[in-house]
Amino acid sequence: MIGKILIANRGEIALRIIRACKELGIQTVAVYSEADVQSLHVQLADGAICIGPASSSESYLKANRILSAAEIADVDAIHPGYGFLAEDAAFAEQCERCGITFIGPPSRAIRDMGDKARARAIAEKAKMPIVPGTDGVIDDVNEALERAKEIGFPVIIKAVAGGGGRGMRLAHNPVSFTKEFGTARVEAEKAFGNAGVYVEKYIEEPRHIEFQILADTHGHVVHLGERDCSVQRRHQKLIEESPSPFLTPDLRKRMGESVIRVAKACDYVNAGTIECLVDKHGKYYFLEMNTRIQVEHPVTEEVTGIDLVKEQIRIAAGERLGFSQKDVKILRHAIECRICAEDPSRNFAPSPGEVTLYYSPGGHGVRVDSHVYGGYIIPPYYDSMIAKLITFARTRKLALERMDRALGEYLIRGISTNITFLQSIVRDPVFAENGATTRFVEDFLKRNPKDQPTVEKVEA
Ligand code: ADP
Repeated sequence: MIGKILIANRGEIALRIIRACKELGIQTVAVYSEADVQSLHVQLADGAICIGPASSSESYLKANRILSAAEIADVDAIHPGYGFLAEDAAFAEQCERCGITFIGPPSRAIRDMGDKARARAIAEKAKMPIVPGTDGVIDDVNEALERAKEIGFPVIIKAVAGGGGRGMRLAHNPVSFTKEFGTARVEAEKAFGNAGVYVEKYIEEPRHIEFQILADTHGHVVHLGERDCSVQRRHQKLIEESPSPFLTPDLRKRMGESVIRVAKACDYVNAGTIECLVDKHGKYYFLEMNTRIQVEHPVTEEVTGIDLVKEQIRIAAGERLGFSQKDVKILRHAIECRICAEDPSRNFAPSPGEVTLYYSPGGHGVRVDSHVYGGYIIPPYYDSMIAKLITFARTRKLALERMDRALGEYLIRGISTNITFLQSIVRDPVFAENGATTRFVEDFLKRNPKDQPTVEKVEA
């Protein structure tokens, strides 16, 4: 039985979890940094505990403080949300040892899938195609170069411990490879405390398509269809949608079977996402697994009608999944835009500060997940995403038209946001017609120098 949950996160995802708990009749405890005293998650939880100063390394990333808060508040479980400690295997293990339920997979699965090289080996064993590349970490530049030549240029050098679109370097030829390899190792060490890198073929003009998995402790695994997250800037997602405009029913079926095999191969439990790259011929490859709830989970919720956070809590409590694969139906089309406090005219620089006016869109087929309100001061210490706007409708065309309308209705004053930029993408005929490959944003900026003059100048 789970009667009380501590939410080890902030912002919109903390609110999202509080909402699920309230509907399930579960008590909630928020944790917050000194910079988040005025935050909505603190106001809406049943209790709240301050865990340190503003910097996340002194608060939301401090496992011991969060565990102490959990003990003081006497909670049964901790929900980590995404980011911060969500994919920290040591934290999940500490929870396991303290007898507190970690709402996520077992620490072993986090460890296995968190190492990109090990995850590739598991996917390969499960007979899911992987991007051609080295078997594991390579330290020696000459050996790496030999392998890169065998794989064929261009290649991508990736940090085994990488994440969040960081820790990747592209090399087009042997000369740039040697330089990029060194840079990648230094950057990986600095960003992730692990210099290990491996080399992978660079798939040209792929689509990023990921499958949502749910697995219970009784051996049942289902997938809830895919999300197409190809609209990215600097490997970071901007717009996500479901279903993908690119997948055929046959490809969906084959990819769905593959990802379920991978989830079973790592004895996965709880919600997870298997990310894939799909090339223009419809060939798909395992990219990585995210062992947590994802930012873009609402699009899946809106197309399937399944509340993923409630399912996570039920699974953590040991309940059986209440449905099987054949019960999962794709009922409509949903699209999500990530609204960020940033200034497109200053190369998307963060734009924290006071929100002097806030009016969020509404109406039929519109969902807003956000912790912002009029008068709220966006602190400069955390991620710049301040809201997720999701629209859904019977068809992709209708969902896109609704997104255009909803973005136009959004009023956020006092700070800069990327709303107008997102709206110009949603209105783009190329995007409307075919959806996007991961090169889309780059091409879009080249095609629209007039719309985005300053961005174009900086990007060039
Ligand atoms: P992270 O863990 O940092 O999110 P991923 O491995 O999921 O990194 O990759 C993020 C994005 O980088 C992908 O969605 C894709 O756009 C690009 N990418 C990664 N690997 C490749 C590859 N082998 N070929 C082409 N693009 C890639």
